[in-house]
Amino acid sequence: MRRLSILGATGSIGQNTLDLVRRAPEGAYRVAALTGGRNIAQLARDAREFKAEIAVTAHDDLLEPLRDALAGSGVEAGAGAGALIDAAERPADWTMSAIVGAAGLAPGLAALGQGGTLALANKESLVAAGPLMMRRARVAGARILPVDSEHSAIFQALAGEDSDAVSRVVITASGGAFRDRPLKDLHRASVAEASCHPNWNMGQRITIDSASMFNKALEVIEAREYFGFDPDQIEVLIHPQSIIHALVGFRDGGLMAHVGPPDMRHAIGYALNWPERRALPVEPLDLARIGRLDFTAPDPARYPALGLAWHVMRAGGLAGAVFNAAKERALDHFIAGRVGFMEMAGLVEAVLDSLEAHPDLAAPEITLETVRRADHLARQQLDAHA
Ligand code: NDP
Ligand code: MG
Repeated sequence: MRRLSILGATGSIGQNTLDLVRRAPEGAYRVAALTGGRNIAQLARDAREFKAEIAVTAHDDLLEPLRDALAGSGVEAGAGAGALIDAAERPADWTMSAIVGAAGLAPGLAALGQGGTLALANKESLVAAGPLMMRRARVAGARILPVDSEHSAIFQALAGEDSDAVSRVVITASGGAFRDRPLKDLHRASVAEASCHPNWNMGQRITIDSASMFNKALEVIEAREYFGFDPDQIEVLIHPQSIIHALVGFRDGGLMAHVGPPDMRHAIGYALNWPERRALPVEPLDLARIGRLDFTAPDPARYPALGLAWHVMRAGGLAGAVFNAAKERALDHFIAGRVGFMEMAGLVEAVLDSLEAHPDLAAPEITLETVRRADHLARQQLDAHA
């Protein structure tokens, strides 16, 4: 029986993961820890259903409601940042990292420290602290498996290939909610409109980041951190059907494309069953019905956030932590109605520029402390610019 934990169990990725666990043969998994944020009802329901050892909310003030909701279930309750780390440190063969944002970094590192497999949906932790995550995995003998669909696609396309033979990688993007809207109307885009994705059903923050392509910028950096590609080897292509998730190009001119349904249970299930491939509850693709696959180059005027990824990769060091935190804060302001949709990228760029030569960020090493410092300064600067 494999022991499994889910960090961010109440979210979109967490629920998709539990759906796969629910369908697994009886006795295949033992659920160690489930964590959530504010959705106590969901957390308690899942902890009871899956007989988790412990359920933890990130918020101290929600301990009592969680205890009440778990009364009589035999599931232990915990709350707060320390309890989250303790939950992540519980022995588990496989842990899903699916907290949204930089808040996923410390629990992800804690999970890596116990040496099992970390299925990584939380791309923000690789963007902010890639070298730290990879080092922690190496030292602890842990394995990180990508869950982001594009990175799962690259991972699958690389299987059995000589990584020296790779010449390029193409990450696809749906183009998000505003792909077909006239550019001149984008500055008026509302939060509700940006929260509707044409092809994927995901959490609100990543859905808005898909419309602005901040999500794709994170994914470009994630690809560099995880696979070690040079910035010049990474390309982004708009592919509205979201059927091809990524392509890997080899020096002989061949391209291996990963074709899969726009259902996160494919990528989650691949990471859950790896190195085996098992049956998954995903709809088989009907290519005749889909009919055609389209590709276009992203327009930098429409997606100003995308180009910032190369700026960040070339700067190196703590630029990823600054970028991610500034982006998270700009998104907070957009959701609160304080900045416009098309203003976010300019604000984040201003923060990257203003912190480029900051003495506190010249640290030679990327540690949890230096990343937290960079994150804090970036949020402060973003607020000052907004
Ligand atoms: P959701 O917003 O749906 O879920 C986020 C989860 O994190 C919830 O369990 C939430 O708890 C919890 N959470 C929120 N804030 C905190 C915090 N400060 N501390 C601890 N836990 C917190 O997000 P998604 O599932 O969409 O995304 C999760 C991660 O996966 C993100 O990094 C995203 O980029 C990545 N990803 C998601 C994809 C998708 O299809 N959704 C695809 C590829 C990557 P609660 O809801 O109880 O408050
Ligand atoms: Mg993705």
